[in-house]
Amino acid sequence: MTQNITDSSTIVIIGSGLAGYTLIREIRKLDKVAPITLITREPGYFYSKPMLSTALASKKEASQLISTPAEGMAVQLEINILSQTNVSAIDAAGKTLQTSKGPVSYGKLVLALGADQMRIPLEGNAVSEVFTVNDLEDYEKFRKAIKDKKKVAILGAGLIGCEFANDLVLAGYEVDVIDLAPQALGRLLPEAAAKALQTKLSEVGVRWHFSTTVQSVNRNGDALQISLANGDSITCDVTLSAVGLKPRLDLAKAAGVKTGLGIQVNRELETSSSNIYSLGDCAEVDGLVLPYVMPIMQAARALAPTLLGQVTALSYPAMPVMVKTPALPTVVSPPAQDAHGQWKTTAIEGGIEARFEAPDGSLLGFALLGSATTQRATLTKELPPILQ
Ligand SMILES: Cc1cc2nc3c(=O)[nH]c(=O)nc-3n(C[C@H](O)[C@H](O)[C@H](O)COP(=O)(O)OP(=O)(O)OC[C@H]3O[C@@H](n4cnc5c(N)ncnc54)[C@H](O)[C@@H]3O)c2cc1C
Repeated sequence: MTQNITDSSTIVIIGSGLAGYTLIREIRKLDKVAPITLITREPGYFYSKPMLSTALASKKEASQLISTPAEGMAVQLEINILSQTNVSAIDAAGKTLQTSKGPVSYGKLVLALGADQMRIPLEGNAVSEVFTVNDLEDYEKFRKAIKDKKKVAILGAGLIGCEFANDLVLAGYEVDVIDLAPQALGRLLPEAAAKALQTKLSEVGVRWHFSTTVQSVNRNGDALQISLANGDSITCDVTLSAVGLKPRLDLAKAAGVKTGLGIQVNRELETSSSNIYSLGDCAEVDGLVLPYVMPIMQAARALAPTLLGQVTALSYPAMPVMVKTPALPTVVSPPAQDAHGQWKTTAIEGGIEARFEAPDGSLLGFALLGSATTQRATLTKELPPILQ
């Protein structure tokens, strides 16, 4: 058991992902000495998670993706890190955490817990062999599994599924992608834009299986046999599931902190429990869970002064997301879910510009592919903020 090294003035942050570390960097810009303890199940290194879906083609091992080990982060940011430490409970009244290394008290607590990859229910004797890649350890296991293999099947044609498909074909693999939706990036792209992306990825070797789902995964000697609901079957060596993310809520729920899609926070990023805050992939702000880098940057910039006593409200400008598919680079800024309007898609030389326009012609969202991605900055300026 470690002794309780924190006290009632300590800011304790759970999670060493982009949210936890970006927040600490923002705090240190304002205050060099405020006591901060970071608790994480991971080794505590800093790495860029978006690189996980672009690193196979460049043959990177997990260790090569680490930009700074935990010891370096502790020195650089002057923080105390409890690594490989699981937090199992929060006592909000007593302002104490139960951890695998003993109790830790806090003055202010930040939940930067991230999200888990979702799993669809599957049948078959090889369900446990279906990989997901959501952190460095997963990446290394997946990399080892595909070594000297040829065929990979990906469940899910969303952002992460498409990025892995492109990266794997670049790394020399045959790739099948399966999705229940009739197109790739179903939530982000209008049909014509999705078709263009699918065509480019098909040209480099991706095979698509749309409007169907995986029913079973069975091992048959050295190969995996995937049965689809439409009656087709796919033979592959390794299967990767990328069907979406599920914010980590259990810790908050058990402590009586209000949750919905994510851990619910107000514009000051405070949860329903005083002195407990949340940001990143696990947090829900005004009904929105935005599991991307830019929202984390915005949230960290607002939360740092709030934790230091200068309460600051979060706002979200328009925040386009880059889909890292070199076969056809794509930038999306999807309209709000309840937005009224329609997509207007124009093919240009080497690309596609799709605008989602309100009835009065104002721009509410866009998708830019290929040569049209140069319009990103101009169109972003036209978009309304996501949270004012
Ligand atoms: C393959 C991939 C590619 C991506 N590409 C892009 C991109 O191009 N652009 C973009 O904007 N976004 C991208 N994203 C999303 C982006 O990477 C995430 O939004 C971001 O990294 C999430 O950071 P986080 O800190 O909220 O969560 P995480 O990085 O998941 O960190 C959560 C932390 O909490 C810790 N933790 C959780 N529970 C406990 C507990 N009980 N006790 C102790 N520790 C705990 C975990 O160990 C971890 O350290 C991508 C995501 C993936 C998976």
